[in-house]
Amino acid sequence: MLTIGCHLSTSKGFAAMGKTALSIGANTFAFFTRNPRGGAAKAIDPADAAALRDLLADNGFGTLVAHAPYTLNPCSDKPRAREFARECMADDLVRMEAVPHSYYNFHPGSHVKQGAEAGIELISGLLNEVLAPEQTTTVLLETMAGKGTEVGRTFEELAAIISRVELSDHMGVCLDTCHVHDAGYDIVNDLDGVLEEFDRVLGIGRLRAIHINDSKNPLGSHKDRHERIGEGAIGIDAFERIVTHPQLRDLPFILETPNELPGYAAEIELLRGLAG
Ligand code: FE
Ligand code: FE
Ligand code: ZN
Repeated sequence: MLTIGCHLSTSKGFAAMGKTALSIGANTFAFFTRNPRGGAAKAIDPADAAALRDLLADNGFGTLVAHAPYTLNPCSDKPRAREFARECMADDLVRMEAVPHSYYNFHPGSHVKQGAEAGIELISGLLNEVLAPEQTTTVLLETMAGKGTEVGRTFEELAAIISRVELSDHMGVCLDTCHVHDAGYDIVNDLDGVLEEFDRVLGIGRLRAIHINDSKNPLGSHKDRHERIGEGAIGIDAFERIVTHPQLRDLPFILETPNELPGYAAEIELLRGLAG
């Protein structure tokens, strides 16, 4: 059975996210570890976290995919911004142990005018400060569309980050279908070729989760505008190949499409149908 869900609001707590996921036919979900614009995180209620853990176990959920605030910039040219990213990520990794063995996905960041190489060095340096041997969370680098000075637009940039992380057993990659398409990887006409490239550069074992989004823009546009499944440049046939691909079908799929809950429920049903 496909492991699929969408981004859910944390506003009513952990157990409420589990109940919402069940109500839309999801068996995984994503959530922001704190306000997506950064800032202070709400304290976790241990009873609420325990209720979610029970719900996940009772209903056979797959691995959850938490998302760091998207405004963190681990490779900013401003030391204070990097320090803020480091503090948030270190705190998030402690908090993630409320739901052990989950994924924690983050955007590598934008190098501003420092160049990708300097960005890669700053990102891996930050990871070496926040990863702990005893953590059960796997940290995922997200593939990026390459807008502006984003790091992570190529598999090579992600591999360069991971190669410099000491505790690299705690690292993986989340492939965002909209982002890789916008970055220029042709998952529509050559999914096998893109996955072979991923395997050659990163090792397919690093691929741990999929953000499943259509794209409003053409291949290689470097835009990053998500579209509903089947309504964009990637298209429904490509998504059928993605959710049935032997190297992808057992991963957690997270929808980040422009939808409210009923729209997500419909996309989950659609993709479950395609997965067969
Ligand atoms: Fe993201
Ligand atoms: Fe994404
Ligand atoms: Zn995006």
